[in-house]
Amino acid sequence: MAGILFIISAPSGAGKSTLVNQLRSLVSGLEFSVSWTTRGPRGSEQDSREYHFTTREHFEEMIRNGEFLEYADVFGNYYGTARCNLREAFSQGRDLLLDIDVQGASQVRAKMPDSVSIFLMPPSPDVLATRLRNRSRAEGAVQEEIIERRLAKARQEIENYREYGYILVNDVLDRAVEEMAAIVAAERIWHGSDPGAGGADRERVLRIAESCRQANSEARVRPVLQAFGVPVPSLKG
Ligand code: 5GP
Repeated sequence: MAGILFIISAPSGAGKSTLVNQLRSLVSGLEFSVSWTTRGPRGSEQDSREYHFTTREHFEEMIRNGEFLEYADVFGNYYGTARCNLREAFSQGRDLLLDIDVQGASQVRAKMPDSVSIFLMPPSPDVLATRLRNRSRAEGAVQEEIIERRLAKARQEIENYREYGYILVNDVLDRAVEEMAAIVAAERIWHGSDPGAGGADRERVLRIAESCRQANSEARVRPVLQAFGVPVPSLKG
């Protein structure tokens, strides 16, 4: 049976890398897809660990050769997922997690409608701005212009949340990690790939995953949308 393709998207600074790293230590059989990018390494990033870093010329050659499942221009740099990542993970019986932006996620959903997509929201613009500033400070200097650009981009990305199957709000990291792990376990149960997933916690895991479905998360998402100035849908019944 083919593995499950999980997609996670979040505005830059929403805490996705921390969440994904914790998830990897909790969940077995889940491969993390290392993307290609034309941006330079940041901080302690290493080639082929966080990303395969490359030149625009090489990236464009890979596009021409049809090597990408999806690719997008994010903040002026190319980012893309190589098709071979998918083949390798699935041939080894593993599930694959893509950490990609909203443009890439929409390309993957169109090609692979069975994929499971998760959108991680920061709790508010203030929290996001603080995280972005702290990260910039740790990496050198804070450039307010870049912070502003990323906040504006975050708002745009949040507008696309309805395209995702599940929504997480990263106000308490441990909770977001638990919810993400529950989504992976629940999807494995539903796909029949690991009917024993969740073990003794099976019912709890299914309940948590269900509560994170986009259709069930309106009440939690509403204050976040309001804080970002994104139009809020009217609450059902
Ligand atoms: P960063 O430069 O902060 O690591 O990533 C910037 C954005 O690019 C993030 O939203 C991240 O999810 C996205 N990204 C990383 N890899 C890929 C990829 O392979 N494809 C697409 N479409 N976006 C990616």
